[in-house]
Amino acid sequence: ADVRNLLLSRIRDVPDHPQPGVVFKDITPLLADPAAFTVLTEALSELCVRHGATKVVGLEARGFILAAPVAIRAGLGFIPVRKAGKLPGATLSQAYDLEYGSAEIEVHAEDLEPGDRVMVIDDVLATGGTAGAAAELIRRGGAEVAGVAVLMELGFLGGRDRLEPVLRGAPLEAL
Ligand code: 5GP
Repeated sequence: ADVRNLLLSRIRDVPDHPQPGVVFKDITPLLADPAAFTVLTEALSELCVRHGATKVVGLEARGFILAAPVAIRAGLGFIPVRKAGKLPGATLSQAYDLEYGSAEIEVHAEDLEPGDRVMVIDDVLATGGTAGAAAELIRRGGAEVAGVAVLMELGFLGGRDRLEPVLRGAPLEAL
């Protein structure tokens, strides 16, 4: 409960960002507070260990900020999942639906190997589309999904219900 309250106290609500009617959860106050950032890193690392992860995926861009220190802390490799067109090597791509339109994310195919158990890390789970697409990429790369771990889940958007079938029993953990 203490961890939860500390983390919550460092997340700022920004009304009407990035568009009118949306309340954006801004994690920059948390990142600027070394005590909170450390607690978050440790909590996410524990989840990686508990679920037997061998690698972590960070989702561009805020997921990178969280997954990199978790990778170091837990002694795991870091894999970037990026928006389409950014990674220079041979990639796997996965498209997914947004509220209006669609998006596409990519991973370097060589970063995923059979026997890997990969934890997907991001700041916020909203509709679950991004994390679901990342889980598909991991499986298509021949690896196993250890789970999805996020700082915050926006429960009213129903992301958990959308994601759970894609996860096929792997855990969704929201701090
Ligand atoms: P989803 O695919 O689950 O709808 O959206 C999740 C992605 O959008 C995540 O990569 C997350 O960083 C970003 N996102 C959506 N809403 C918010 C928000 O309110 N705050 C932050 N920090 N990120 C958000």
